[in-house]
Amino acid sequence: MGGDRRAEDPGRSPAGLIPHSRPMVGAAEAAAAAEAVASGMLAEGARTAAFEQALARRLGLSSAVAASSGTAALHLALSALGIGPGDEVIVPSFVCAALLHAVARCGATAVPADIDPVTLNLDPADARRRMSRRTRAVVAPHMFGLAADVEGLLALGVPVVEDCAQALGGTSRGRPLGALGAASVFSFYATKVITTGEGGMVASRSEELLDRVRQLKRYDGVDDPAPRFNYKLTEMQAAIGVVQLGRLQAFIDRRRGIAARYTAAFGVHPVGLPPVDPEHIFFRYVVDLRSDAERFLREARAAGVACERPVYRPLHRLLGRQGYPASETAFRQCVSIPIYPALMDTEIDRIIAVVSGLLPHPAR
Ligand SMILES: *Cc1c(COP(=O)(O)O)cnc(C)c1O
Repeated sequence: MGGDRRAEDPGRSPAGLIPHSRPMVGAAEAAAAAEAVASGMLAEGARTAAFEQALARRLGLSSAVAASSGTAALHLALSALGIGPGDEVIVPSFVCAALLHAVARCGATAVPADIDPVTLNLDPADARRRMSRRTRAVVAPHMFGLAADVEGLLALGVPVVEDCAQALGGTSRGRPLGALGAASVFSFYATKVITTGEGGMVASRSEELLDRVRQLKRYDGVDDPAPRFNYKLTEMQAAIGVVQLGRLQAFIDRRRGIAARYTAAFGVHPVGLPPVDPEHIFFRYVVDLRSDAERFLREARAAGVACERPVYRPLHRLLGRQGYPASETAFRQCVSIPIYPALMDTEIDRIIAVVSGLLPHPAR
């Protein structure tokens, strides 16, 4: 197949476009959701508890608490850590705006730090430079499925919240991501590693912290007036989540298989490819073009492959700040190539043909 239709049919309808992401859901998820509906128990109940237990077990922890989204989970985790007005929280600049919003919802200030140009994860040395007397936590996303330097961040001496929205099932030196910091958060948005449509989770080794999270997400039967948030998951979502979690390892194996094909095909081009790391789960396959990405993105789309910037707007740009050279370069030059278990082999062939045709060629 390959990218052969490109030249003949440059203006074909978006129906022919390979999307940047697509959820992998089917009959088993539909049956689980239908069973939850039929049970008449729609709000948080036994299925949510089972989903929490299953996720905690995957991390080697004893419990976790479901939330309505990854952003809600992060708001809950930071609140449970006592983050509030006057506090500062270090976050990477090269990440989605959800982190900014969750910190702001605590009344605290997000302080972006720069990233490592190779791993694209938060750089502990730059994080240290941005710390002040007010710094109370670090949020460390494992970007694109590759472990952040949690040890380097733990050495900063403030609680580290692992953001595993893109890294469920990943590990660092054999240890599950999400079990390394003071707390961790997960997202089950439609295009994440596993999905419940929308959804999230907070995990932690500390039962005390998880109890505070549980308190913060329910308002009924409570006498004190401190702010709380109804951030609960539904049983339909949890039922889907249990099925998805059962498929997680197969999803990751498929992602790694596709990544290996991309690396073999794109390795001949003078571009920056993702670090070759057997623990990477390849939520995204991010290529540094070493030049401005705009034209590549336009031409790939015209050729039927929806590539995207891996981050819509880095936080330093949203905030109108300078001094983030690695994040700025990644924003200008990096592209995310479609990679997800729902891709068919013929689509992978086409992606490889289209992308190879658009990447810069090796000097001869
Ligand atoms: C998606 C995402 C979030 C937010 O999760 P939602 O479920 O969309 O609220 C937070 N952090 C990272 C790194 C993400 O990729």
